Amino acid sequence: MAVPARKVSKTRGATRRAHLALSAKATTTCPNCGAVIKAHRVCKNCGTYKKKQVIEMEKAEVKETKKDVKAKESKKETKAKETKKETKKAKTKKSEK
Ligand SMILES: [Zn+2]
Repeated sequence: MAVPARKVSKTRGATRRAHLALSAKATTTCPNCGAVIKAHRVCKNCGTYKKKQVIEMEKAEVKETKKDVKAKESKKETKAKETKKETKKAKTKKSEK
């Protein structure tokens, strides 16, 4: 039965809403490309299901997997370190003069 809002205390409303929280959906990684996907569904990244090609994907459509991203990041980090070293060398050279 409907109850006027002012008749329901803050505590009672909060207690009722304690069970309304959303839970995280179950995810797995694609056995083909390693992308995070919903369980029991076709991989949106590579279009496979149980390692079988179900949907034809264009090569440009296939996004970067976690492995690719990590490899890129590590490359970037090494580049950044190299540049830092170079700047340090340049600074030391200047101080020597
Ligand atoms: Zn995949």
